[in-house]
Order: sequence, then structure tokens, then C-alpha cells
Amino acid sequence: MTTLQEQFTTAFPHLSFQLNYPLATKTYFKVGGPAELYLELAEREQIIALVQFCQKNQLPMIILGGGSNVIVADKGLDGLVLKLTNSDFSIVGKQNNETIIRAGAGLRTTLLVRKTIDAGLTGLEYFLGVPGNLGGAVFNNAHYLQDLISEYIWRVEIINKTGEAEWLDNKECEFGYDSSRFQRTGEVILQAELHLSAGLAEESQKLIKQATLYRSETQPLGLPSSGCIFQNTPNNPELQKRFPQFAERSHVPSGFLIDQAGLKNTREGDIEVSDKHAAFFVNRGKGRASDIQKLIERVKSVVKDKFGVELREEVFWLGKS
Ligand SMILES: Cc1cc2nc3c(=O)[nH]c(=O)nc-3n(C[C@H](O)[C@H](O)[C@H](O)COP(=O)(O)OP(=O)(O)OC[C@H]3O[C@@H](n4cnc5c(N)ncnc54)[C@H](O)[C@@H]3O)c2cc1C
Repeated sequence: MTTLQEQFTTAFPHLSFQLNYPLATKTYFKVGGPAELYLELAEREQIIALVQFCQKNQLPMIILGGGSNVIVADKGLDGLVLKLTNSDFSIVGKQNNETIIRAGAGLRTTLLVRKTIDAGLTGLEYFLGVPGNLGGAVFNNAHYLQDLISEYIWRVEIINKTGEAEWLDNKECEFGYDSSRFQRTGEVILQAELHLSAGLAEESQKLIKQATLYRSETQPLGLPSSGCIFQNTPNNPELQKRFPQFAERSHVPSGFLIDQAGLKNTREGDIEVSDKHAAFFVNRGKGRASDIQKLIERVKSVVKDKFGVELREEVFWLGKS
């Protein structure tokens, strides 16, 4: 019987697939087992050919971006894990007085922000501290407080379920808070175009400083984590009455609810609810995906009992522990 590795190496002899690759080294949380096969790929035509091959032969394939919003199962992942590293950046034209830039899904979001500022453009400054790559930011519609990256997305090029490259305009991406159609369809995000207005470098630097300071004051940045484990919670009359300080907001910060429930520093194994930002779980050393799962269940159950609120996860599970 031919192995998965043989199938891939026969079809793509020029690519170096790695067997049993330790995925914890590629994620911010530093948990999880190996990928059966692992490959990093930057070249557009090769990415398309590989995705088509998986679709045609019904081979399992998981896309990894920067690995900052995923929890990999302890037992690892079957099939191919494909990390996109296409990181081109270019200015492609003008639209309604704005500049359209194009960037590869594998471009680091922070680098994208820097490049737009260097090009004299404004809009993305607050996304400077969002770890990971543009593909992951599009997948989850990355946000900074109320600002969503979808507000700047012009269109997105994907590989659809029949293996063709296709551009989708902003509306077709079905962006919402922490959501996009890609979470439903499993389409591969190849690159995106964003529309940005002309800016002043000094103003951009001020915004960056503000956002960076806010992050360092409110987030446990020195420890492995996946950022917020939970989405913020949609507001409702009960929460508005209980927490009038958030009455005008559409969402109540989940970190606030977890803190109010007295859960800071709660621990399962080496995974801990951060005392700096209670929606963050941090890995104190040898944390496992199964510890994260247990801690998620515990936090959800206590918050539900105290406030009647169902917390929803913001992170994505790759495989189940
Ligand atoms: C310290 C810290 C701070 C954070 N702060 C923020 C914040 O302020 N705002 C915010 O929104 N998020 C934040 N996050 C979460 C995370 O950084 C973002 O959601 C980020 O955009 C994820 O991108 P990524 O490339 O790392 O995605 P990954 O973690 O690699 O992947 C996430 C999901 O997207 C899918 N995916 C990735 N790339 C593609 C692609 N090209 N095509 C199809 N599917 C793809 C993956 O399969 C996976 O399901 C933070 C995380 C950390 C660790």
C-alpha cells in the first residue's frame, strides 16, 4: 500500500515534505502533536496545484498561517499541514481616492502594517500587534477593539472547492465579528487586496504607539498563548443592568466576565487563566491541548452559572485531543 508521503512525493518530487513534523514549534501556544506531513509553500501555482491534488484524491489537508489562533490536538494531525508563506506586497492601483494594495496570505500582519505605512498609507496601524499572517487575519476577520480588518478588505483571492482560483469581493466574504465565510467553506485564502487612504507617517506612528502601549499594558505578551480564547459576549438587557459601564457597547469583554467570576490564575496542568487579561490562557511550561480543553470547559461552566452567558471560543481547534 502506498503511504501518504509516497503519494505526495510521487506527484510533487521537487517539494520537501516533512514526516511527523512537531507542530508545537509552529504555534504561539506551543502545544500539540506532530503533523503526519508538513510543508511550507510560497509559490502561487504550486499552492494551487497541491490543493487541487488533495481535493482530487480526497487527501486530508489543513492550512496553517502564523499559528497564533490555533490549538493543535495532542495526538497531532493526520494528512498534510500546509503552511502558506507567500508574502508578496504590491500597490495595484486606485479606487475612489484610495490606494489598493495586494498582499499574500503568508505575509505577517505586522509586516503588512509596516509596509503600508512606508507606502504613505493609513488605516491598519491598530493591527500592528496582531500576531500571525494576513490569511489568518482574513479567516477570523481580525479586530482591534471595535476596528475590524474587513473594513479595509477590497477583495480576496481564494482557491475554491473545485480547485480554481477565484476573487471574492468584500460582501461575498460574509465578514462579521470574528467570522467570515471561510470558517464555513474551508476555501483556501491565497491573497487579499485592501483599500487604504493616504496618511501621514507621524500620525501613523502615534496610533502605533497607542496600540502597542495598550497591548503591553493589558496582555500577557511574554508567555505562549493564542490571544483571547473567547470571543467578547453580545450584550443583553440582563448584562446591561448588571454592568452599566458596558451598557452602550454591543459586546461585553469576556475577559471582564471571567475576571468577575473570580477565575484569574485558575489552572489545569500548566495552562493558566492569565491574571493580566482573563480571556487569555497562558502556557506556563508543559501545557497540553487537553489541559486547555479542560480549562475552557471549567471557565465556560462557571461563567454560565454566574452570569447565564455561554462563552464562545475565538480560537480554532486543529484536530481533537
Ligand atoms: C498575543 C496575541 C494577541 C492577539 N491579539 C489579537 C487581536 O488584537 N485581534 C485579533 O483579531 N486577534 C488577535 N490574536 C489572535 C490571532 O493573532 C489572530 O486571529 C490572527 O489573525 C490569526 O492569524 P494566523 O495567521 O496566526 O492564523 P492561524 O492561527 O495560523 O490560523 C487560524 C485559522 O485560520 C485558518 N487559516 C489561516 N490561514 C489561512 C488561509 N490562508 N486560508 C484558509 N484558512 C486559513 C487556519 O486553518 C485556522 O483555522 C492574538 C493572538 C495572540 C497570540
